[in-house]
Amino acid sequence: MSNIVDELVQDYIRSTLKESKTFLRELEEYADKNLVPIVHKEVAQLLKVLLKIHKPKKILEVGCAIGYSSMLFADTLDKNCEIITVERNEKMIEKAKENLKKYGFEDNIKILEGDAEEKLKEVEGSFDMIFLDAAKGQYKLFYDLVIDKLKTGGLLVSDNILYKGMVASDKYVIRRKKTIVKRMRSYLDYISNCDYLDTSLISIGDGVALSYKKY
Ligand code: SAH
Ligand code: MG
Repeated sequence: MSNIVDELVQDYIRSTLKESKTFLRELEEYADKNLVPIVHKEVAQLLKVLLKIHKPKKILEVGCAIGYSSMLFADTLDKNCEIITVERNEKMIEKAKENLKKYGFEDNIKILEGDAEEKLKEVEGSFDMIFLDAAKGQYKLFYDLVIDKLKTGGLLVSDNILYKGMVASDKYVIRRKKTIVKRMRSYLDYISNCDYLDTSLISIGDGVALSYKKY
């Protein structure tokens, strides 16, 4: 299974979405052509609604790629925000920088270049929202590095948590992904049972977890 949602259902939901702004559409086309795994359209829409409600001033993102999600966030918030995003792939960094400049987001979005395991230790301050969207086997490790930086009342969003359905059922697991799947399940178990989080796992896109930090 490559997709966790019935295709007819997904197509229907997508058909209800408004067309993206031109600059986002350009990025979506680039991502499509170059197989860059940007957020699924219906997840992007969910995030837009959440951003409008939550109005985060400071966002920390792990996994920038070409800058699509961070620019989507900044645009949704009319640039009333500061975003720090981490990326280790040099080609992605180069493209993301080019995009931030081209579309005018250099003042709002700062890229930390390097492995999140190192870079997150250098991040100072606290955040209203954290978006985890990097190596799927490392979410718990990222979580441990960022959770103290999330404010009380803050929102933690974790993307690709169902990982093509493999996390939900062994039936879909391919052998070389076994370790990643095991780690993701243990991460989801952790954020679902943690006393100071209220977590909801949502089966749209590739699966997304929303966690509210209570204290
Ligand atoms: N958030 C982006 C997509 C991110 S794709 C969007 O929706 O537009 C995941 C990215 O995480 C990839 O570009 C990959 O290079 C990066 N990544 C994976 N593991 C990482 C790590 N440990 N440190 C930094 N970046 C990482
Ligand atoms: Mg993702």
